This record gives sequence, C-alpha cells and structure tokens, in this order.
Amino acid sequence: MRILVIEDEEKTSAYLKKGLEESGYAVDVANDGADGLILALEEKYDVIVLDVMLPTMDGWAILKTLRASKATPVLFLTARDDVNDRVRGLELGGDDYLVKPFAFVELLARVRTLARRGPPRESELIKVGDLEIDVNRRKVRREGKRIDLTPREFALLRLLARKQGEVLSRTQIASYVWDMNFDSDTNVVEVAIRRLRAKVDDDFSVKLIQTVRGVGYVIDSKVTD
Ligand code: CA
Repeated sequence: MRILVIEDEEKTSAYLKKGLEESGYAVDVANDGADGLILALEEKYDVIVLDVMLPTMDGWAILKTLRASKATPVLFLTARDDVNDRVRGLELGGDDYLVKPFAFVELLARVRTLARRGPPRESELIKVGDLEIDVNRRKVRREGKRIDLTPREFALLRLLARKQGEVLSRTQIASYVWDMNFDSDTNVVEVAIRRLRAKVDDDFSVKLIQTVRGVGYVIDSKVTD
C-alpha cells in the first residue's frame, strides 16, 4: 500500500511519514502543492493525504486537477473547523477529511478505511426509481429531465441515495452534510429537505423522499405509507 502525503509543514509530514511507515505503508512526501500534484498524477497511490493550505498550489486546485483524470481516494486536512471548507472539499471529490489538529490514530483509521475501499468506480451512477444521480459528474436527472442542485443539496441527496431504503435521523444528516450537531435545532435539516423535495419530488407523482415521523428521512422508490 502506497500513500502520498502532501503537507508543507515539515514537522507534520515527517511525523505522518514515520507513523504510516510504522503501520506498514510505503510513504512519499511532497512539501509543496505543485510537486504533490505531479507525484499524484504520475505515480500510483492507494490513498493521498492532502493538506489544503499549501504553497504554490492549494489543496483545492490539486483535488480539482487530480479528479479530472484520477479517482485515487483523498483524505484532506483542513486547518479551520469550517463547514464550507468541508463541503467544498467533498464536492470537489475528496473522500474524507480531518480537521487539524487531529490524533494520529484517527488519521490512520481514516487512511485504512479509504485504502480498503479503493477508488470508486469511474462512473458511479445511483438510481432511485426514475431518479439518476451521476456522482462523479454531479448530474441529477429524473425521468430524463435535468435537475440543478446546489452543492449542499447534492451532498444531501447523495447521502440519502447511497443509503436508500435506510432511515437517516436528522442528527445523522446534519453531522454528515454540515458536520455539526443539531441536537437542539434540526430545523436546518428540515429546511434543506424541503428545498430538495421542491426540486426532486414536487413535479412528480411518486414522492421519493419520505418523512418517517419522529425518526428522520429516507429515500426510496417504494412508497412505504
Ligand atoms: Ca499547510
């Protein structure tokens, strides 16, 4: 298993290299964005650990360029505990993220999961009844008609669709899509679901997004009521 660590803080990259090597991985390090991108494109890695704030080329630009041709799993590291950063990273094709500072064991667990999962199939197409979600190209169609979603609506729909038939609680949805705890206020999720329904369900007779009262939401082509 080969890992590429793109991280400009040399103390952090040396520490990650040492820890990952002790865990049995072969590790290359790039301390600069442009160098990291070249390695990521030219070599074959099982997982890339990508810092967002980098000299010469930031993590977003690297991710965007990389995703045009490669599906290598990417764990990105954000410095700020910022929701928009995470949504942006996931929407650009990042597979998972960690907020700095993090514990090495947590990074190792994420890397293992990504390495085990491997790259996603080149075109992941999720179907829920007549709804089609092209995950990599971020295109959504229903009965062949294109539906335009905001990045966050797309993330929400993708989450529901990947777990179709499975009821997700508001808290689960909030923690995945916004990475926040909404124990006291799940209204944000309700509002987002309402907006998503307006685009995905309102014009169609079969309603795919269903409310399970007192529990949460599920997307399913089979009406359960
Ligand atoms: Ca950095």
